[in-house]
Amino acid sequence: MAFLCVYRVYQSNQSMFKRVLPTALLAIILFSCHQKAEPDIRYVIAPVVVDSIPQLQIKMTFPANPEGTTVLSFPNEAWGQEKLFGTLGKMQLLNVEGAVEKDAENGQIVLIHPKGVKKLEFEYVLKQDFDDGLSTIRIYRPIINSTYFHAFSHNMFMVPEQAAGHQNIILDWSSFPKDYTVHNSFGSQERVQELKDMDMDLFGNAIFVGGDFRVLSGDIQGNRISLATRGEWVPFQDEDVFQVLERTLTCQRNFWNDHSQEYFTVTMQPFPQENGSSFQGTGLTNSFATSVSNNDLTDIGQMVYLFNHELMHNWIGHTITNGNEEEQYWFSEGFTEYYTFKNIAANHINGLDGRFFIDEMNRTIRDLYASSVGDVPNSEINYDHFWNNYEYSKLPYWRGTIFAFYLDQKIKQISKGQQSLDDVMHHIYRDATTKDQKLTHDYFVDLMESYWNGGFGTFFQKHIEEGQKLDLEDLFIELDLAYSTESDIYELGFEFTEDRKGIKSVIEGSKAWEAGIREGDAVFSRSIWQGNIEKEVELGVKRNGEQLHFSFYPVKKAKVPQMEVTVGNMEKLGF
Ligand SMILES: [Zn+2]
Repeated sequence: MAFLCVYRVYQSNQSMFKRVLPTALLAIILFSCHQKAEPDIRYVIAPVVVDSIPQLQIKMTFPANPEGTTVLSFPNEAWGQEKLFGTLGKMQLLNVEGAVEKDAENGQIVLIHPKGVKKLEFEYVLKQDFDDGLSTIRIYRPIINSTYFHAFSHNMFMVPEQAAGHQNIILDWSSFPKDYTVHNSFGSQERVQELKDMDMDLFGNAIFVGGDFRVLSGDIQGNRISLATRGEWVPFQDEDVFQVLERTLTCQRNFWNDHSQEYFTVTMQPFPQENGSSFQGTGLTNSFATSVSNNDLTDIGQMVYLFNHELMHNWIGHTITNGNEEEQYWFSEGFTEYYTFKNIAANHINGLDGRFFIDEMNRTIRDLYASSVGDVPNSEINYDHFWNNYEYSKLPYWRGTIFAFYLDQKIKQISKGQQSLDDVMHHIYRDATTKDQKLTHDYFVDLMESYWNGGFGTFFQKHIEEGQKLDLEDLFIELDLAYSTESDIYELGFEFTEDRKGIKSVIEGSKAWEAGIREGDAVFSRSIWQGNIEKEVELGVKRNGEQLHFSFYPVKKAKVPQMEVTVGNMEKLGF
């Protein structure tokens, strides 16, 4: 009866969230027949509709604290999101009398129950707590609607505080319709997932999606990779993105000679955006979760960059870890960026080649030269500056990329082509995996000495610690590269007042000055592409009661060495 009922309801109804009662019954019937060794924590996830709103019901079974108070972790604040308790619906203990208390401050759900109870069955309902549409700021909250869900471990699964270390976990999705995709960091399309001896930290950093996601799968040396995406993409086809992913992962794993990851997935969620394009990604256990603006300003080139940069962090940043976080961002971000450009060009990912490499290196050089903090010491790239100031947040990428480029060329030159920075990277990787070596400045300098002609410590001190720019012109001459000494670089040409509503000062002779912008103007509209010399700045200001509109390209000529994009240069750089 139950089977027929489920089937019929499902067949006749587009909305799968209506069939929760019969399927829940089915799940119970099925599970009463399965007498298996008990897992430490079992989660049974089911679609439900509460007040005609689709939600997720999560029933968990786990050991009780014999003292009578069992605490579950569920952060109220995480990943820049506040009030995550707002996503919690009805909560109740199922197998014992007791009380459920919310402790938002400590991110805990406290269960009060009789002493001596061995197991607890607890049920809670999770809902989407916003209805103003998906946007970049909403991505890190649970998204649950009639067609799909998208959530991260910490805002989906409560975890008993006593369950540290490793646990056996079961995720039971059997209440979902057959054609409802179930896909996450631990597998794809499995109705019952057994996570044996699961590291709870890894469990806590995962992505879970379901619904109308499409899953594209492939194989790299016997290891499964997949892309899960949904919606109608404007800028590209699923297959094109999957191909970039497959090629990127293959090249990166070959580069590190590391094919140890048995399962890896990327989730790609579209969101609407009217102006400009944006994308973001989060590296997680066995996975990378991205959200990408779905419009024609977005293109596959951005995915090529995103995958190559972010997936490289699996090795640089994750396996090779910084000794002291921001202090080594020149390495974890800068060297990642350099290998992003180098690997894309060397492996012709998405048809790109040495031209792309030279273009990206030139752009990075211009960015560093245009930066108002381009020469500050490394110690100023600290937490506060990095997270609160655009130019500081970019500095380790730019400085580190150019530093890596310089080292790569020099090592090739010194070793007469026998070695390159690749060898240094493999060396660091070996030390990280076999000796748990962290990337510290002392370690890096020591290691580099054997690839250098002496004096690397002083060189490092000057260009990383003190932040002085490298002499690229000298390098270009040594390498016999064709180059120019002058270039357009970005200059906004004026400064906003603190509240950004007025013009505080204008650089005389700048493009902003030539356009007519003056100190004291009150700004009522603006369009500025920070760091971009190809997009016009548009400004609407009020002056003496009059409305004025200005537009100009934010550039200035500067002495900035740039490599020419020639076949000769490409060859000399190894492409
Ligand atoms: Zn990065």
